Amino acid sequence: MRGTIRIDANRCKGCELCVGICPKKVIGIADTFTPKGYRPAILVDPDGQCTGCLLCSTICPDVAITVYREAVSRTPAQKHAAAA
Ligand code: SF4
Ligand code: SF4
Repeated sequence: MRGTIRIDANRCKGCELCVGICPKKVIGIADTFTPKGYRPAILVDPDGQCTGCLLCSTICPDVAITVYREAVSRTPAQKHAAAA
């Protein structure tokens, strides 16, 4: 499963809970500040490591993270092998 996330910087308070819980370590903290004075979380995932596992959005106390998932389609040979 591949995934990605969108972080609403206007909701984020920079608590870093999502940074600590992400198993793929693809969430960082921005160098810039939001209008409210927080450094928001940002996705840093150049290699597409996010699996859409939902841990970050589940732990976020400010409901700032939306997770998108994309099922990786298998080739006919892979489907056959999986069914065998
Ligand atoms: S969905 Fe999972 S892998 Fe993706 S950024 Fe959130 S915690 Fe990390
Ligand atoms: S858990 Fe939510 S509020 Fe905390 S840094 Fe991550 S996105 Fe921001």
